[in-house]
Amino acid sequence: MHDLDAENEDLVRKVIDYALERLGGDAPLHCPPSAEELHALVGDTITPGGLGGTEALRTFAEHLAPACMPTDHPRYLAFVASAPTMAASAFDLVVGSSSLCGSTWLDGAGMVFAENQALRWIADLAGMPDSAGGCFVTGGTMGNLSALVTARHDAVRRRTSAGSERPERWAVVAAESAHSSIDSAAGVMDVDVLLAAVDGGQRLRGDAVATAIAGRPAGTEVFAVVATAGTTNLGIVDDIDGVADACTSAGVWLHIDGAYGGAAMAAPSVRHRFAGIQRADSLVVDPHKWLFSPFDCAALVYANPALARAAHTQHAGYLEPIIDDTVWNPCDYANVLTRRARGVPFWFSLAVHGTDAYTDAIEHTLEVTRATRDLVEAAEHLELLVEPELSVVAFRRRGWGPTDYQAWCDRLLAAGTALLTPTTFDGGAAMRICIVNPRTSVSDLQEVLATLEPAGDPVT
Ligand SMILES: *Cc1c(COP(=O)(O)O)cnc(C)c1O
Repeated sequence: MHDLDAENEDLVRKVIDYALERLGGDAPLHCPPSAEELHALVGDTITPGGLGGTEALRTFAEHLAPACMPTDHPRYLAFVASAPTMAASAFDLVVGSSSLCGSTWLDGAGMVFAENQALRWIADLAGMPDSAGGCFVTGGTMGNLSALVTARHDAVRRRTSAGSERPERWAVVAAESAHSSIDSAAGVMDVDVLLAAVDGGQRLRGDAVATAIAGRPAGTEVFAVVATAGTTNLGIVDDIDGVADACTSAGVWLHIDGAYGGAAMAAPSVRHRFAGIQRADSLVVDPHKWLFSPFDCAALVYANPALARAAHTQHAGYLEPIIDDTVWNPCDYANVLTRRARGVPFWFSLAVHGTDAYTDAIEHTLEVTRATRDLVEAAEHLELLVEPELSVVAFRRRGWGPTDYQAWCDRLLAAGTALLTPTTFDGGAAMRICIVNPRTSVSDLQEVLATLEPAGDPVT
């Protein structure tokens, strides 16, 4: 199993050929089969004797891969799609084939160096200080959790050194529009979420944050505020400068969740929306969303990484030799020890293409979004719900209820036209389209929106 003999070499070539073939063509969109249907197709694949390379690869290519939704399809418009560059996808194979561990400088100096340059690009886009740094984690969920753990650790440290008691409860302030992972992190940490109201434009502002902090229950201390730089549902960027003012005056950590939207800091046409982001104590941006990296890859950056080290460094006799703050050990900055160097495919693609190509590709998706907004605005049977700030277009079909949206999405998927999923807005059903794939064209959107026309025969 472990030698590159003729049989293994043949298998490796077949795997690489398969990967190349997949990179070259769009896999179709379709409804996922049931586990029973898949079992009928592939049977039991784990056997004492093994299937052999050819058969295992055939099983995957013919039955299992087609049972997955290709998130890089230009008409995958639900959730937040992915659109890795060829360079990034290909380099993921290299990361996997190199037996390199990205936990510590000792194990992975070269990769950690490369990842840190990619992190630096993101920190520079935000205008964070020279001291800024962190690591790549699996996703925004883990990034948000790790950042909030650091924030609370620092709040405890400051309270302890001031000689104060711990509060009865710790709390984080966030808007209803914040991502579900904030609630999830609060659950893991056993802290409360104090909701701050958004304004009429669905934006969290400093005054609402100040009100939420001032209105905290007796015995509760706020240790962090989360502002979202691009809400997942609507693509709204909170008033970061205003929120930062409220954090400064309350002496509270500011975490910016830019998992989806942070990438757009690289786009001059919308950069002004992120004003104040340089004041973040911590920032998350997912390259696997809008920075064209394969899953799973989220950048987590702290203004003062020493605070994260204090919160996250793991201690054990066999780890003592690597605990060293004169070198960069990524495992010190998140809730992780063994770590895939998941930022390296992103780094490789950035190094290959340069950052201008990223700016152009993101601007292109923003142009397609604006054109989609215009199509919605021009259609009498459609109602635009909010002005798109980044790359989400949210709308309603006049006269439709919740079941109509789901039925429409089902029809589009059954026809292999597009993957869309309904959402809710202001208590009612609605549609959102999220565009992060530079291969998604205005004509893709025209084709999808045409199926909403009242007189038109819907997709059959
Ligand atoms: C997607 C998203 C997350 C969660 O990121 P994962 O990579 O899916 O874990 C967090 N916050 C926002 C704003 C997001 O859009």
